[in-house]
Amino acid sequence: MSLGEFDLIAKYFTRPVRRAALGIGDDCALLAPGPGMQLAVSSDMLVEGRHFLSTVAPDRLGHKALAVNLSDLAACGARPLAFTLALALPRADEVLLEGFARGLFALAEAHGIELVGGDTTQGPLNICITVMGEVPAGGALLRSGARAGDDLYVSGTVGDARLALEVFRGNAALDARAFAAVREAMERPQPRVALGVALRGLATSAIDVSDGLLGDLGHILRRSGVAARIEVDAVPRSAVLAAQPAALQRECTLAGGDDYELVFTAPPAVADRVQAAAREAGTAVTRIGRIEAGQGLRLVDREGCDVAQTFGSFDHFRS
Ligand code: ADP
Ligand code: MG
Repeated sequence: MSLGEFDLIAKYFTRPVRRAALGIGDDCALLAPGPGMQLAVSSDMLVEGRHFLSTVAPDRLGHKALAVNLSDLAACGARPLAFTLALALPRADEVLLEGFARGLFALAEAHGIELVGGDTTQGPLNICITVMGEVPAGGALLRSGARAGDDLYVSGTVGDARLALEVFRGNAALDARAFAAVREAMERPQPRVALGVALRGLATSAIDVSDGLLGDLGHILRRSGVAARIEVDAVPRSAVLAAQPAALQRECTLAGGDDYELVFTAPPAVADRVQAAAREAGTAVTRIGRIEAGQGLRLVDREGCDVAQTFGSFDHFRS
């Protein structure tokens, strides 16, 4: 006998709430952000075949669905509070639901946040999470604050998720261990929430890398009305990616996407404090270039020579 809608919600998604004023079960959830705080809200939808492959394990899907949302809060420097889950499922597949809920709640617990509501319907597999976080009023990191002279940074390493995708597509080959590592980057990204919070008051702008480093940085540049110079060889990458052909490394690091690292800017005067914030957050950050006056993006190599920019950014309606 298959599980009904309300049994499914009760069995897999209802957990006691600790911080929200009211969780699942009524018409609305109720949240109480702290005094002087603004609510930061963001939604991200995951569609099978578009954002994930049918080969992904359910627990990793649960993890990633929440991770990509937490990454948006991280990019704003917001501390996560709660989330909602709108789920369309072809059928009440308990293997999928059990694994999905396990991965989802493991990440939720790691960040001390709770599921406070949602919607469940039959349909093609589609997962939409909305996260809510809080940030001191006026203290959110925005895309619009980069200034000429700022240093440009990226957290962690970028490009592994794209390398995994290229392996799935048959365009690259890795041994089993290397493949497991890049597949983990693609399927279990770690949202840089602690780093985002630690960068409040230091970073002048920030964004998370979901569509590719250059494309996402482009949003900062346009919103801030500035240009940037990136040292492409300085962009941090894993040892697995660093062993690949140079052209593939550039494609993956600069245009890869699905990295969920933070790209941010900060004045050189606070460079030491940026590194201290990164240490406190347990996430390395690397300076990869500089913000300049004007418009556009200039890519240079180790010797300072211009690198042709042939990379696009991911756009759902163009690819
Ligand atoms: P309504 O019809 O008022 O929208 P529903 O019957 O859809 O309410 O949902 C009942 C309760 O279960 C609500 O509190 C809703 O927020 C919650 N809920 C529904 N689906 C989910 C889900 N996938 N995850 C978490 N909570 C859910
Ligand atoms: Mg409903």
